[in-house]
Amino acid sequence: MTDCIFCKIASKQIPSKTVYEDDDVIVFNDINPAAPVHLLVVPKEHIPTLAHCSERHSALLGKMMLLAPKLAQEAGCGYDGNEDGSAGNGGFKTLFNTGPDGGQEVYHLHLHVIGGPKPWRGQR
Ligand code: 5GP
Ligand code: ZN
Repeated sequence: MTDCIFCKIASKQIPSKTVYEDDDVIVFNDINPAAPVHLLVVPKEHIPTLAHCSERHSALLGKMMLLAPKLAQEAGCGYDGNEDGSAGNGGFKTLFNTGPDGGQEVYHLHLHVIGGPKPWRGQR
């Protein structure tokens, strides 16, 4: 997609603060962060929205989700709860906005990973 901002970032036509990259995804800092940590996990393939995904994207979506806790940990907002989720500190949000009513502004699939010490926008 020649006019897509995230395709341009993925192909390095536009610079970004990249924190992780492999053959399938690129992860960079959101230009307008909602919190101390705000990463975007972006597939290199141009897929407009989560609603455009099918079975063939299962592995990619799994990779994106599993990257979130690792990247959050590296960015300083990992969750350190026990096996049962008790007594933990830290943590982060994972978010796919889909379509206009879902608040999507960039129509290239991306997973927001948002966290850091509270309070921040949208967090009490
Ligand atoms: P959406 O609302 O589509 O889920 O989120 C799009 C996100 O992309 C927004 O949080 C916005 O700040 C971010 N964004 C838009 N353009 C750019 C850009 O050129 N570079 C970076 N790093 N982030 C962008
Ligand atoms: Zn794109």
